[in-house]
Amino acid sequence: MLEYAGKIREAAKKLLADGKVDVFIGYQKGSVPMMNEPVLVKDPEQTEILHWDSHCGLNLCNYLTKRTDKIGIVANGCNSRNIVTHIIENQIKRDQLYIVGIPCEGMIDHRAVVRAVKYREITSVEEEGGRFTVKGPGYEETFAKKDFLRSNCVICRHRNPVIYDEMLGEPVPEQTDIDAYEDVKKIEGMSSEQKWEFFNRMISRCIRCYACRNACPLCYCPTCFVDESRPQWVGKSIDPTDTMTFHFLRAYHCAGRCTDCGACERVCPVGIPVRQFTKKLNKDAEELFSWEAGLTLDQRPPLDVYRPDDYNAFIR
Ligand code: SF4
Ligand code: SF4
Ligand code: SF4
Repeated sequence: MLEYAGKIREAAKKLLADGKVDVFIGYQKGSVPMMNEPVLVKDPEQTEILHWDSHCGLNLCNYLTKRTDKIGIVANGCNSRNIVTHIIENQIKRDQLYIVGIPCEGMIDHRAVVRAVKYREITSVEEEGGRFTVKGPGYEETFAKKDFLRSNCVICRHRNPVIYDEMLGEPVPEQTDIDAYEDVKKIEGMSSEQKWEFFNRMISRCIRCYACRNACPLCYCPTCFVDESRPQWVGKSIDPTDTMTFHFLRAYHCAGRCTDCGACERVCPVGIPVRQFTKKLNKDAEELFSWEAGLTLDQRPPLDVYRPDDYNAFIR
Protein backbone atom coordinates (compact mmCIF):
# COMPACT_ATOMS: atom_id res chain seq x y z
CA MET A 1 0.00 0.00 0.00
CA LEU A 2 2.69 2.44 1.07
CA GLU A 3 4.42 2.17 -2.32
CA TYR A 4 1.52 4.05 -3.90
CA ALA A 5 2.18 7.27 -1.95
CA GLY A 6 5.09 8.28 -4.22
CA LYS A 7 3.19 7.34 -7.37
CA ILE A 8 0.18 9.42 -6.28
CA ARG A 9 2.43 12.47 -5.66
CA GLU A 10 4.01 12.04 -9.07
CA ALA A 11 0.67 11.66 -10.86
CA ALA A 12 -0.89 14.61 -9.04
CA LYS A 13 2.11 16.86 -9.68
CA LYS A 14 1.99 16.16 -13.41
CA LEU A 15 -1.78 16.63 -13.66
CA LEU A 16 -1.63 19.99 -11.87
CA ALA A 17 1.50 21.20 -13.69
CA ASP A 18 0.03 20.27 -17.11
CA GLY A 19 -3.21 22.08 -16.23
CA LYS A 20 -5.26 18.91 -16.73
CA VAL A 21 -6.91 19.43 -13.35
CA ASP A 22 -7.50 22.49 -11.14
CA VAL A 23 -7.43 20.55 -7.89
CA PHE A 24 -6.28 17.11 -6.75
CA ILE A 25 -8.17 15.31 -3.98
CA GLY A 26 -6.28 12.73 -1.95
CA TYR A 27 -5.14 12.01 1.60
CA GLN A 28 -2.47 13.48 3.85
CA LYS A 29 -1.10 12.08 7.08
CA GLY A 30 -3.24 13.05 10.04
CA SER A 31 -1.92 14.86 13.11
CA VAL A 32 -2.27 11.62 15.11
CA PRO A 33 -1.36 8.08 13.97
CA MET A 34 -3.87 6.09 11.87
CA MET A 35 -5.96 9.19 11.12
CA ASN A 36 -5.13 10.14 7.54
CA GLU A 37 -7.35 12.95 6.36
CA PRO A 38 -8.67 14.16 3.01
CA VAL A 39 -6.77 17.03 1.43
CA LEU A 40 -7.32 19.23 -1.65
CA VAL A 41 -4.10 20.28 -3.39
CA LYS A 42 -4.01 23.02 -6.03
CA ASP A 43 -0.29 23.79 -6.30
CA PRO A 44 1.99 21.19 -7.98
CA GLU A 45 4.65 22.04 -5.39
CA GLN A 46 2.32 21.02 -2.57
CA THR A 47 1.75 17.50 -3.84
CA GLU A 48 4.50 16.27 -1.47
CA ILE A 49 1.93 16.22 1.33
CA LEU A 50 -0.13 13.55 -0.44
CA HIS A 51 -0.01 10.17 1.25
CA TRP A 52 -1.41 6.65 0.98
CA ASP A 53 -1.29 3.73 3.38
CA SER A 54 -3.70 1.46 5.24
CA HIS A 55 -5.32 4.32 7.16
CA CYS A 56 -7.11 6.07 4.29
CA GLY A 57 -10.55 5.12 5.56
CA LEU A 58 -12.56 8.27 4.86
CA ASN A 59 -14.48 8.59 1.61
CA LEU A 60 -13.15 11.28 -0.73
CA CYS A 61 -16.36 11.60 -2.76
CA ASN A 62 -17.77 13.94 -0.13
CA TYR A 63 -15.52 16.58 -1.66
CA LEU A 64 -16.81 16.14 -5.21
CA THR A 65 -20.40 17.17 -4.72
CA LYS A 66 -21.49 19.97 -7.07
CA ARG A 67 -17.93 21.09 -7.87
CA THR A 68 -17.60 22.84 -11.22
CA ASP A 69 -13.82 22.68 -11.73
CA LYS A 70 -11.61 19.93 -13.16
CA ILE A 71 -10.67 17.47 -10.48
CA GLY A 72 -8.04 14.78 -10.04
CA ILE A 73 -8.96 12.20 -7.40
CA VAL A 74 -7.51 9.05 -5.88
CA ALA A 75 -9.87 6.07 -5.96
CA ASN A 76 -9.69 2.52 -4.64
CA GLY A 77 -12.61 0.10 -5.06
CA CYS A 78 -15.20 1.64 -2.75
CA ASN A 79 -14.31 5.27 -3.50
CA SER A 80 -14.56 4.54 -7.24
CA ARG A 81 -18.05 3.09 -6.73
CA ASN A 82 -19.10 6.26 -4.92
CA ILE A 83 -17.71 8.29 -7.82
CA VAL A 84 -19.95 6.27 -10.16
CA THR A 85 -22.92 6.88 -7.85
CA HIS A 86 -22.15 10.60 -7.77
CA ILE A 87 -22.02 10.73 -11.58
CA ILE A 88 -25.28 8.79 -11.97
CA GLU A 89 -26.96 11.08 -9.43
CA ASN A 90 -25.75 14.19 -11.30
CA GLN A 91 -23.55 15.45 -8.47
CA ILE A 92 -20.50 15.62 -10.73
CA LYS A 93 -19.79 15.07 -14.42
CA ARG A 94 -17.54 12.27 -15.66
CA ASP A 95 -15.62 14.64 -17.96
CA GLN A 96 -14.68 16.87 -15.01
CA LEU A 97 -12.78 14.01 -13.41
CA TYR A 98 -9.37 12.45 -13.80
CA ILE A 99 -9.46 9.32 -11.65
CA VAL A 100 -6.19 7.87 -10.38
CA GLY A 101 -6.99 4.24 -9.54
CA ILE A 102 -5.38 2.25 -6.74
CA PRO A 103 -5.88 -1.47 -6.13
CA CYS A 104 -6.71 -1.91 -2.46
CA GLU A 105 -5.93 -4.63 0.05
CA GLY A 106 -8.02 -3.14 2.81
CA MET A 107 -7.74 -0.56 5.56
CA ILE A 108 -6.73 -1.12 9.17
CA ASP A 109 -9.31 -0.93 11.95
CA HIS A 110 -7.75 1.70 14.25
CA ARG A 111 -9.99 0.70 17.15
CA ALA A 112 -8.76 -2.90 16.97
CA VAL A 113 -5.18 -1.60 17.13
CA VAL A 114 -5.97 0.52 20.19
CA ARG A 115 -7.47 -2.55 21.88
CA ALA A 116 -4.49 -4.72 20.92
CA VAL A 117 -2.04 -2.36 22.64
CA LYS A 118 -4.35 -2.26 25.67
CA TYR A 119 -5.30 1.40 25.28
CA ARG A 120 -1.75 2.61 25.77
CA GLU A 121 -0.71 5.85 24.06
CA ILE A 122 0.27 5.37 20.39
CA THR A 123 2.90 7.74 19.02
CA SER A 124 3.52 6.11 15.64
CA VAL A 125 2.28 3.33 13.35
CA GLU A 126 4.53 2.32 10.46
CA GLU A 127 3.70 -0.40 7.95
CA GLU A 128 5.85 -2.50 5.75
CA GLY A 129 4.64 -5.32 3.53
CA GLY A 130 1.80 -7.09 5.28
CA ARG A 131 2.85 -6.00 8.76
CA PHE A 132 2.74 -2.84 10.84
CA THR A 133 4.58 -1.69 13.94
CA VAL A 134 2.97 0.34 16.70
CA LYS A 135 5.18 2.42 18.98
CA GLY A 136 4.40 4.27 22.19
CA PRO A 137 6.16 5.34 25.38
CA GLY A 138 8.22 2.32 26.48
CA TYR A 139 6.80 -0.23 24.03
CA GLU A 140 6.87 -1.42 20.43
CA GLU A 141 4.63 -4.15 18.96
CA THR A 142 4.33 -5.59 15.46
CA PHE A 143 1.15 -7.09 14.01
CA ALA A 144 -0.01 -8.72 10.78
CA LYS A 145 -2.28 -6.37 8.83
CA LYS A 146 -4.60 -9.19 7.77
CA ASP A 147 -5.67 -9.66 11.41
CA PHE A 148 -6.66 -5.99 11.77
CA LEU A 149 -8.70 -5.25 8.67
CA ARG A 150 -11.88 -3.24 9.03
CA SER A 151 -14.95 -5.44 8.91
CA ASN A 152 -16.14 -3.97 5.58
CA CYS A 153 -12.72 -4.63 4.03
CA VAL A 154 -12.77 -8.27 5.18
CA ILE A 155 -15.90 -8.86 3.07
CA CYS A 156 -15.11 -6.43 0.22
CA ARG A 157 -15.73 -7.89 -3.25
CA HIS A 158 -14.63 -4.84 -5.26
CA ARG A 159 -11.14 -3.94 -4.14
CA ASN A 160 -10.06 -2.69 -7.57
CA PRO A 161 -11.41 0.59 -8.95
CA VAL A 162 -14.39 0.07 -11.25
CA ILE A 163 -13.67 3.32 -13.11
CA TYR A 164 -10.36 5.13 -13.66
CA ASP A 165 -8.26 7.11 -16.14
CA GLU A 166 -4.95 5.79 -14.90
CA MET A 167 -4.09 2.80 -12.70
CA LEU A 168 -1.06 3.02 -10.44
CA GLY A 169 -0.62 -0.72 -9.96
CA GLU A 170 -1.65 -4.20 -10.98
CA PRO A 171 -5.17 -5.26 -9.90
CA VAL A 172 -5.38 -7.34 -6.72
CA PRO A 173 -7.43 -10.58 -6.78
CA GLU A 174 -11.08 -10.00 -5.91
CA GLN A 175 -12.56 -11.91 -2.96
CA THR A 176 -15.37 -13.44 -5.00
CA ASP A 177 -16.20 -16.40 -2.76
CA ILE A 178 -16.95 -14.36 0.35
CA ASP A 179 -20.35 -14.32 2.08
CA ALA A 180 -20.76 -10.61 2.77
CA TYR A 181 -23.99 -11.00 4.71
CA GLU A 182 -23.40 -13.57 7.46
CA ASP A 183 -24.18 -10.99 10.16
CA VAL A 184 -27.34 -9.78 8.39
CA LYS A 185 -28.61 -13.35 8.05
CA LYS A 186 -28.16 -13.83 11.78
CA ILE A 187 -30.34 -10.78 12.45
CA GLU A 188 -32.90 -11.90 9.86
CA GLY A 189 -33.22 -15.15 11.81
CA MET A 190 -34.33 -13.30 14.97
CA SER A 191 -37.92 -12.76 16.05
CA SER A 192 -39.39 -9.24 15.73
CA GLU A 193 -38.90 -8.66 19.47
CA GLN A 194 -35.30 -9.84 19.34
CA LYS A 195 -34.60 -7.56 16.36
CA TRP A 196 -36.14 -4.59 18.15
CA GLU A 197 -34.03 -5.29 21.23
CA PHE A 198 -30.88 -5.81 19.13
CA PHE A 199 -31.21 -2.49 17.32
CA ASN A 200 -32.32 -0.59 20.41
CA ARG A 201 -29.28 -1.86 22.29
CA MET A 202 -27.08 -1.02 19.31
CA ILE A 203 -28.13 2.63 19.13
CA SER A 204 -28.46 3.21 22.87
CA ARG A 205 -25.07 4.95 22.96
CA CYS A 206 -25.81 7.22 19.98
CA ILE A 207 -25.29 10.89 20.84
CA ARG A 208 -26.84 12.16 17.57
CA CYS A 209 -23.62 13.89 16.55
CA TYR A 210 -24.34 13.04 12.86
CA ALA A 211 -20.71 12.24 12.13
CA CYS A 212 -21.93 9.09 10.31
CA ARG A 213 -24.13 11.21 8.08
CA ASN A 214 -21.44 13.83 7.47
CA ALA A 215 -18.85 11.22 6.48
CA CYS A 216 -21.15 9.58 3.93
CA PRO A 217 -20.94 10.81 0.34
CA LEU A 218 -24.55 9.74 -0.22
CA CYS A 219 -25.79 12.35 2.28
CA TYR A 220 -25.65 15.51 0.20
CA CYS A 221 -29.18 16.91 0.59
CA PRO A 222 -28.97 20.72 0.99
CA THR A 223 -30.94 20.35 4.24
CA CYS A 224 -30.98 16.95 5.91
CA PHE A 225 -34.36 15.82 7.26
CA VAL A 226 -32.92 15.84 10.81
CA ASP A 227 -32.04 19.53 10.52
CA GLU A 228 -35.40 20.67 9.13
CA SER A 229 -37.47 22.64 11.63
CA ARG A 230 -40.45 23.53 9.40
CA PRO A 231 -41.76 20.91 9.47
CA GLN A 232 -39.75 19.08 12.07
CA TRP A 233 -39.73 15.49 10.83
CA VAL A 234 -37.92 14.04 13.82
CA GLY A 235 -37.12 15.21 17.35
CA LYS A 236 -33.63 16.48 18.09
CA SER A 237 -33.07 14.69 21.38
CA ILE A 238 -31.50 11.33 22.16
CA ASP A 239 -34.94 9.95 22.94
CA PRO A 240 -34.77 6.32 21.68
CA THR A 241 -37.71 6.80 19.25
CA ASP A 242 -36.13 9.88 17.68
CA THR A 243 -32.75 8.20 17.47
CA MET A 244 -34.21 5.08 15.88
CA THR A 245 -36.16 7.24 13.41
CA PHE A 246 -32.94 8.99 12.40
CA HIS A 247 -31.13 5.70 11.82
CA PHE A 248 -33.96 4.02 9.92
CA LEU A 249 -34.56 7.03 7.68
CA ARG A 250 -30.88 7.58 6.99
CA ALA A 251 -30.47 3.91 6.08
CA TYR A 252 -33.47 3.99 3.72
CA HIS A 253 -32.07 7.11 2.05
CA CYS A 254 -29.00 4.97 1.28
CA ALA A 255 -30.97 2.00 -0.08
CA GLY A 256 -29.47 0.75 -3.35
CA ARG A 257 -26.76 3.44 -3.12
CA CYS A 258 -24.44 2.33 -0.30
CA THR A 259 -21.04 0.95 -1.35
CA ASP A 260 -20.19 -0.36 2.14
CA CYS A 261 -17.13 1.90 2.21
CA GLY A 262 -17.35 1.95 6.02
CA ALA A 263 -16.69 5.68 6.44
CA CYS A 264 -19.86 6.12 8.53
CA GLU A 265 -18.79 3.42 10.96
CA ARG A 266 -15.19 4.59 11.15
CA VAL A 267 -16.09 8.10 12.29
CA CYS A 268 -18.65 7.19 14.95
CA PRO A 269 -17.16 8.49 18.21
CA VAL A 270 -18.90 5.83 20.28
CA GLY A 271 -18.23 2.89 17.99
CA ILE A 272 -21.78 2.07 16.83
CA PRO A 273 -21.74 -0.45 13.93
CA VAL A 274 -24.13 1.63 11.79
CA ARG A 275 -23.48 -0.55 8.72
CA GLN A 276 -25.82 -3.11 10.29
CA PHE A 277 -28.64 -0.91 8.93
CA THR A 278 -27.28 -0.27 5.43
CA LYS A 279 -25.99 -3.82 4.93
CA LYS A 280 -29.50 -5.25 5.21
CA LEU A 281 -30.62 -2.91 2.43
CA ASN A 282 -27.55 -3.79 0.34
CA LYS A 283 -28.51 -7.45 0.70
CA ASP A 284 -32.11 -6.74 -0.30
CA ALA A 285 -30.96 -4.73 -3.35
CA GLU A 286 -28.78 -7.65 -4.39
CA GLU A 287 -31.45 -10.31 -3.86
CA LEU A 288 -34.44 -8.40 -5.22
CA PHE A 289 -32.81 -6.42 -8.03
CA SER A 290 -29.42 -8.11 -8.67
CA TRP A 291 -27.96 -4.71 -7.86
CA GLU A 292 -24.76 -3.57 -6.21
CA ALA A 293 -24.26 0.19 -6.03
CA GLY A 294 -21.73 2.00 -8.16
CA LEU A 295 -20.59 -0.73 -10.51
CA THR A 296 -21.78 0.77 -13.78
CA LEU A 297 -22.54 4.11 -15.40
CA ASP A 298 -24.97 2.43 -17.80
CA GLN A 299 -27.78 1.51 -15.43
CA ARG A 300 -29.82 3.56 -12.99
CA PRO A 301 -30.20 2.36 -9.37
CA PRO A 302 -33.36 0.26 -8.77
CA LEU A 303 -35.15 2.82 -6.62
CA ASP A 304 -34.53 5.48 -9.25
CA VAL A 305 -36.27 3.67 -12.12
CA TYR A 306 -39.82 3.90 -13.46
CA ARG A 307 -40.86 1.53 -16.22
CA PRO A 308 -44.34 1.69 -17.75
CA ASP A 309 -44.10 -2.08 -18.29
CA ASP A 310 -43.02 -2.82 -14.71
CA TYR A 311 -44.20 -6.30 -13.69
CA ASN A 312 -45.38 -4.92 -10.34
CA ALA A 313 -48.90 -3.61 -10.95
CA PHE A 314 -48.88 -1.34 -7.90
CA ILE A 315 -46.23 0.90 -9.40
CA ARG A 316 -47.93 1.47 -12.77
S1 SF4 B 1 -14.05 -1.58 1.27
FE1 SF4 B 1 -12.74 -2.58 -0.30
S2 SF4 B 1 -11.95 -0.96 -1.62
FE2 SF4 B 1 -12.79 -0.01 0.23
S3 SF4 B 1 -11.04 0.22 1.60
FE3 SF4 B 1 -11.96 -1.76 2.10
S4 SF4 B 1 -10.94 -3.29 0.81
FE4 SF4 B 1 -10.44 -1.26 0.00
S1 SF4 C 1 -23.78 4.51 4.36
FE1 SF4 C 1 -21.70 4.26 5.22
S2 SF4 C 1 -20.86 2.49 4.16
FE2 SF4 C 1 -22.61 3.22 2.92
S3 SF4 C 1 -21.73 4.65 1.43
FE3 SF4 C 1 -22.36 5.86 3.21
S4 SF4 C 1 -20.51 6.01 4.48
FE4 SF4 C 1 -20.17 4.34 3.02
S1 SF4 D 1 -21.74 8.91 14.38
FE1 SF4 D 1 -22.41 7.45 15.95
S2 SF4 D 1 -23.05 8.71 17.69
FE2 SF4 D 1 -22.95 10.07 15.90
S3 SF4 D 1 -25.06 10.05 15.08
FE3 SF4 D 1 -23.91 8.45 13.98
S4 SF4 D 1 -24.31 6.57 15.16
FE4 SF4 D 1 -24.89 8.30 16.48
